[in-house]
Amino acid sequence: MRVAGISDIHSNLPALAAVLADIDEQNGAPDGIWCLGDIVGYGATPDACTSLVANLAEVSLAGNHDLVVCGGLDIRHFTTAAEEAARWTMKNINATTRDYLKSLEPLEGGHPTGLYHASPRDPVWEYVLSIDQAHDCLTAQRERVCLIGHSHVACYFTRSDGNPTDGQMAQPGTILDMSEGEWLVNPGSVGQPRDGDARASYLTLDTDEWKAVYHRVEYPIHQAANAIIEAELPRQLAERLYVGH
Ligand code: ZN
Repeated sequence: MRVAGISDIHSNLPALAAVLADIDEQNGAPDGIWCLGDIVGYGATPDACTSLVANLAEVSLAGNHDLVVCGGLDIRHFTTAAEEAARWTMKNINATTRDYLKSLEPLEGGHPTGLYHASPRDPVWEYVLSIDQAHDCLTAQRERVCLIGHSHVACYFTRSDGNPTDGQMAQPGTILDMSEGEWLVNPGSVGQPRDGDARASYLTLDTDEWKAVYHRVEYPIHQAANAIIEAELPRQLAERLYVGH
């Protein structure tokens, strides 16, 4: 099965549209699109992003932002800008979007890989960014290969028999041979990358050959940033898109 893994879209329609076009153009239509959550929050086009994911994604998880917006999580856990954006999103989404977000869970079984928004041991909140954390997650996970989002950093962690856990940030074009060992793989963020590369990030994965490839896509950042400013969302949410932090 050939799938495209996307995550952390955050109401950024230009970034999502560019990624969906790239998935088709560069890689041929995959058998499925797996979205690891946080469709909304931060950005200014929640309904359009949610509708695209609802129509196109075979797997769609709830992220912490999706959960907050539909009342499944307490908004007081959020930082100021995230809280302001969540309140804006609650006010501005339509009922179809709200109902769809409400139907999602932060993890999903029954697929060739484990699928979690944040981590196998805490599907909602844990940012897996260190080797130590990844080591404990690899020990906790039931599936040999797991996909996670949430940190907005394109990266992967792996461990094979007897060797210490290793982890790397992923560059565009990085190819992973996951035919052996345990893996925890983050496709990076479509709509608000935080790894210093402002381009939208995603991953393609072949679960028969256990091969994955990282991709980065240019998109019109000014369109997403201007929409945030016009919506009177916190200005920093527009500015950070240009630098990828
Ligand atoms: Zn996120």
